[in-house]
Parts: sequence; structure tokens; C-alpha cells
Amino acid sequence: MAERLRLMTVHAHPDDESSKGAASTARYAAEGNDVMVVTCTGGEAGSILNPAMDRPGVVEKMPEIRREEMARAAGILGVQHRWMGFVDSGLPEGDPPPPLPEGCFARQPLEVPTAELVRLVREFRPHVVVTYDETGGYPHPDHVKCHEVSMEAFDASGDPERFPEQGKPWQPLKLYYCHGFSRRRMQLFHDSLLERGLESPYEEWLRKWDGSRPDPYERVTTQIECADYFEVRDEALRAHETQIDPNSRWFAVPLDIQRAVWPTEDYELVRSLVDTTLPEDDLFAGVQERVHA
Ligand SMILES: [Zn+2]
Repeated sequence: MAERLRLMTVHAHPDDESSKGAASTARYAAEGNDVMVVTCTGGEAGSILNPAMDRPGVVEKMPEIRREEMARAAGILGVQHRWMGFVDSGLPEGDPPPPLPEGCFARQPLEVPTAELVRLVREFRPHVVVTYDETGGYPHPDHVKCHEVSMEAFDASGDPERFPEQGKPWQPLKLYYCHGFSRRRMQLFHDSLLERGLESPYEEWLRKWDGSRPDPYERVTTQIECADYFEVRDEALRAHETQIDPNSRWFAVPLDIQRAVWPTEDYELVRSLVDTTLPEDDLFAGVQERVHA
């Protein structure tokens, strides 16, 4: 029997797996691949972002509730899930921003979370790893840290000299950044909504876009067709009840517009130990051939 292919995606908080690359991970899982989502932190610092959930007793039980939400989302996406067990750093707000709390994920010395991720990589043995780019894709210290830890673990996992106590070395073959928030995509959604006489939630976002900042879309090498899984993605997002307001911009673009205008999720290939040709339409391009040769 052919070996199943394995994909690992590394995220900072519970709900990031459902808002970034969720439809493509659901597709890979549905097509018979093994998919594991790793979450660096417990999301303890998240406040209640859904007014319907802002009621007594919820905030006190936040860590527990977020674990239940995450388990539901993983079930909906059809993926395995592991916690790395670090504490959410929170998004520092204010001018100047306050220091990050002692002991939080973003303040860990790099080798501490790297050891944990290396252990998970050696246990699951992914062929492909997905993480965020060097900006974190979103200016949160945990997202930037997630990037740093993933890069370090990608190189360390296959090296027998590093973290020898964390399991038998395993070298993943490809590493990608997930790019969800491209300006081009938002602009197309915005235009389609206005054409239909609908309200667009992107007006302000587009106006505030810093013109000197390159569109992440320019870095995309790999587009995964996954429109059939947009509903699954939305259902997984809604499972994070305390974080996701069902009336928010996450759900503002009707699915038929999304399917017509942007039926893919987009990735950037940053490391490859196999031969592949860009642009790609499959995260496992080149891996299939190597594993099943
Ligand atoms: Zn996050």
C-alpha cells in the first residue's frame, strides 16, 4: 500500500487554523492524507469577540472553552491536533506598548518551543510543513514567534546532533508560508460586493493599506483549489464561538462570489528538498514522486 502523505500546519492560537489555510487543509484531509494542526499557545489572552458569547461565566473559563472550541474545529476540518502548551502573549496595546508578560510564548528562548515542535515533527513525520512568513502575517508577537520556531524546527528535526532526546530524526521535504491577506484578493472581493450592491467590509482596510508595503500576493508560488471546502472552513471558524462573531467580516462575502473570484488558498514555497516546478497547484508536488518512487 502506498504511504499516506502527511501535512503539518503550525499556528499561534486556536482559531488561526480555521482562518488561515483551513479550506485547503480540510481538502487534503478529505482526500486521504494525514493532516496535523499544531497550536503553539492556548489562546488564554483572547477576549470575547462575539457579543453573543459575552455573558457571565465565559471569561472565567476561557482556557477550557478554547480547548473545547479547538477540538470541535479540528473535528470539522478532519485533522489531528496537538497543543505545544505555551501561554498566549496577548496583543500589546498602547503607546508605548506594555512589556510582554513573563513566561509567555513570545518571550521563550527559541530552543524551548523549538524542542517541543521538533518532538512533534519527529513523531508525526510530515512531508510538508506550513507556517507564517517572517512578519507573522498579522502583527502579533505570537505569530512572529510561531514563524521563528517553525523555521528552526524545520532544520533541526532532521539533524541527529540536535535535540537527540526528542526522537528519531525526520527531515520534512517542503516548507511553505500561508498567505491569506493579499491586497489583490481583498480588492476583488470589494469590487464584486459593490457590483452586486452589497456593503463591503474592506473599504477602510483598503484605504489604510500602506502603498509602500508589497502585496503578499506577489510572493505566492502555490495556489490550492479548495472552493468545495469553503463551507467546511466557515463551520470550523464558527466553532470558535468566543472568538468569531457570526455577523463579522469573516462571513461578509457570499460563498458564490468567493468561489467565482478566488477559489484558492495561497502559499509561498520557501524550502524544498524535492524537484518541483513553479507555480504549483499542490503542496505535495514533487513529494508524491519521491515518496512513492
Ligand atoms: Zn493568532
